[in-house]
Amino acid sequence: MKTITLGTTGLQTAELGFGAMYLPRVSVAQSERVIKRALELGITYFDTAAAYQDSEEKLGKVLSKISDQVIVSSRSMAYKMGIEAFQQEFDQSLRRLRCDYFDFYGFHAVNQPPDFEQAIGAPLEFLREQQQRGRVRHIAITGHNPVTLVRALKTGAFAMAMFPFNVIEQEPLHDLFAVARELGVATSIMKPLAGGVIERKALAFRFFFTHDPGVITPGMASEQEVEENVRIFIERRPLVADELQELLNEVALLGKEFCRRCSYCMPCEQGIMIPFVHMIYLKCWGKPMNDDVLYTLGLGKRMLPLLEKCTACGTCVEKCPYSIPTPRRVQEVLELLKSMPDELS
Ligand code: SF4
Ligand code: SF4
Repeated sequence: MKTITLGTTGLQTAELGFGAMYLPRVSVAQSERVIKRALELGITYFDTAAAYQDSEEKLGKVLSKISDQVIVSSRSMAYKMGIEAFQQEFDQSLRRLRCDYFDFYGFHAVNQPPDFEQAIGAPLEFLREQQQRGRVRHIAITGHNPVTLVRALKTGAFAMAMFPFNVIEQEPLHDLFAVARELGVATSIMKPLAGGVIERKALAFRFFFTHDPGVITPGMASEQEVEENVRIFIERRPLVADELQELLNEVALLGKEFCRRCSYCMPCEQGIMIPFVHMIYLKCWGKPMNDDVLYTLGLGKRMLPLLEKCTACGTCVEKCPYSIPTPRRVQEVLELLKSMPDELS
């Protein structure tokens, strides 16, 4: 696989990284097999987050013995709950990963200006102190809103930015990549398959090979997935014009109502997590009730009482740059959640 350098950090990795967000769905033994297969096939960059349930423990079990040979990145959303919560989660993540330091540690889901304001105060100061103590090598930021990330990178505080980029979400091409390159900030790509909604995986990955977007971290939970992905990245065939058009046609309809999780529509006066509603809709609506769909619905089940409070006020539609019909989606997700078999709900 192609080796890339992560910004000006001097760290090098294979272009295909490992996203750990799906590890909570599989057993400890299965996680171990998947991670070991990834290592055997040359993957060296591992991305996780405190929010991904037991993924840190599962990674730590395998990677702690070879931490000098891999790059581990984690992040926390606890900065939104204050400095103490953030500090606690930082320590907890180090313990779960069984390591002395993070290669990258950062702020998770910095989407809107208030998130950014919360991150750059005491939490950033804390990470700088940890950096001096050798417990963090580089500070990172992740989010779904290119405008907020550009503003954040311009402060010079971050060595890496992680954000969605795929054939549907091409907004980072406007200026986020350019700003990152100019400032020597590494880029890491989440949601390379648009959160699982692009079904033609090979074409979706090959889209990246004309852009060189940085380290690409699809979620993986089976050895077969790892092998298939590695094969595509070894072949590294960029899309030809006809293939790109084919892919664009396929996602054209999807793209019109595809939620970018930018959070411009938030907050909802009823406390509804709107991007989460759309994530459930995109993954589950019209899909057969397979394990993946049941798992996602299971995550959404606790939102049911809140969704029932939606007043269809339409404020979220007015604030959304893509005019996504959120009130309709809320009703559709409610319908889906209520259709879950009782024994699984
Ligand atoms: S509904 Fe619109 S504004 Fe809200 S997160 Fe999705 S794309 Fe952004
Ligand atoms: S329409 Fe529903 S989801 Fe949207 S802001 Fe109003 S109450 Fe919240």
